[in-house]
Amino acid sequence: MADVTKSPWIMHYDGSSCNGCDIEVLACLTPLYDIERFGIINTGNPKHADILLITGSVNSQNESVVKQIYEQMTEPKVVCAIGICACNGGVFKDCYNVLGGVDKAIPVDIYVPGCAARPQSIIDGVVKSLDLLKEKSEKLSEKRKQAKEALKDE
Ligand code: SF4
Repeated sequence: MADVTKSPWIMHYDGSSCNGCDIEVLACLTPLYDIERFGIINTGNPKHADILLITGSVNSQNESVVKQIYEQMTEPKVVCAIGICACNGGVFKDCYNVLGGVDKAIPVDIYVPGCAARPQSIIDGVVKSLDLLKEKSEKLSEKRKQAKEALKDE
């Protein structure tokens, strides 16, 4: 398991899941799995969130909502698709209104398969997101530094 050096705030959005994966995400927040031991807080505000956990597939009804949530999150950010429906549409992928997994609407960084995804896998996905968050954060700082230096040179 990766060393946890940051307290990531997560936001959970249920795309169109059967609620099986949502129950497991909520189980992670209970004292039994206690994801808060990593400093994780579940927030309802995308502007405060570092990691977006999405369950369920993307369909014609929720596509714009998924995009709006993603766009409201500030950089750096990580998206975790939880459960096989979020990964590729799962058993619902042939439904008339289902577009597929979450990556049909927004970029997905981490895929956590399973039906339902197990709490241990969800926690692993969140902890893996931390390394990625750190990497993205360092790249962003470097970009900002270069932009500042370019301004100075002008
Ligand atoms: S992966 Fe399984 S448990 Fe999770 S939302 Fe899809 S059907 Fe439900």
